[in-house]
Amino acid sequence: MSESGTKSLRKPLRFWGWGYANEDLHPEEHAMIETVTKMFVPEGVVEIEPPKVEDFDLPASRLPAIPEHLSDIISTTPYDRLVHSYGKSYADMARMLMREVPNPPDAVAFPRTEDDIQQLFRYASENNIALIPFGGGTSVCGGVEPDVGDTYQATISVDMENLNQILEIDPVSRRARIQAGIKGPDLEQQLKQHGLTLRHYPQSFPFVSLGGMLATRAGGHFATVYTHIEDMVEATRLVTPKGIIETRALPGSGAGPSADRMICGSEGTLGIITEATMRL
Ligand SMILES: Cc1cc2nc3c(=O)[nH]c(=O)nc-3n(C[C@H](O)[C@H](O)[C@H](O)COP(=O)(O)OP(=O)(O)OC[C@H]3O[C@@H](n4cnc5c(N)ncnc54)[C@H](O)[C@@H]3O)c2cc1C
Repeated sequence: MSESGTKSLRKPLRFWGWGYANEDLHPEEHAMIETVTKMFVPEGVVEIEPPKVEDFDLPASRLPAIPEHLSDIISTTPYDRLVHSYGKSYADMARMLMREVPNPPDAVAFPRTEDDIQQLFRYASENNIALIPFGGGTSVCGGVEPDVGDTYQATISVDMENLNQILEIDPVSRRARIQAGIKGPDLEQQLKQHGLTLRHYPQSFPFVSLGGMLATRAGGHFATVYTHIEDMVEATRLVTPKGIIETRALPGSGAGPSADRMICGSEGTLGIITEATMRL
């Protein structure tokens, strides 16, 4: 029952921790936990049942009437709200295990196009709603948490999962124009067919999105040289409440301030990154 009504098209995520809802630890991992527990907590541990959606009494959604053209992409189901309540830090998981979710998003939007995002901004501006971009939800610093204070009427987590295509590949210049919601493994798998790679592997790789990596200025396993994500950006496209910012895709530029450098690391505060041209 727990994932019923979701408008997400992806394999259901575990809302209270890392991974997918139907996954479990391998027997060897269970055995390792037992060994470590015996070593460090000889008196034994208190086991907590994994939470179920039904365990949570979420505050009612404060979203005003949803316009018809957005109703297909906005969900207020408890499962969708829980998946988008926290990132994946230790504190996030601890609060889930304690069934403490005082600030779930009032709704979750799953835009399919950039136009949907612009419509969401219009609706949000008219109704004083905070939009919070959500890529893979692997943030460890509260970046996706809808705790925005009392100044907004409501919050909507904007899940980018459907903007997940590579739009253009230029094998000669070794670059590609890529939608921001694509997940790390899907991106690498599609680039590999062209003999190319972004070569950016944060430890959270299985779940991260391109937009999330850009918005957090992610660094990866190969971060000794060219693996800070901003070093691989040629251009970005950002939808803001005031319109679209798009930078020119150039192999390099020394002219003027770099808007890409401003957008990288903006953590969703300036707008929603919808695509980027990346060096491969
Ligand atoms: C186990 C684990 C390992 C990790 N390892 C690393 C690592 O090696 N290197 C590293 O740098 N980080 C690491 N992280 C942190 C995290 O994975 C990164 O910050 C990652 O880049 C976040 O990507 P995401 O798609 O999950 O973004 P989310 O968590 O969904 O979002 C992160 C922030 O970006 C904003 N955002 C998301 N998408 C967009 C968009 N399209 N437009 C505008 N803003 C957006 C969100 O609002 C939020 O503020 C790790 C986290 C975990 C849990």
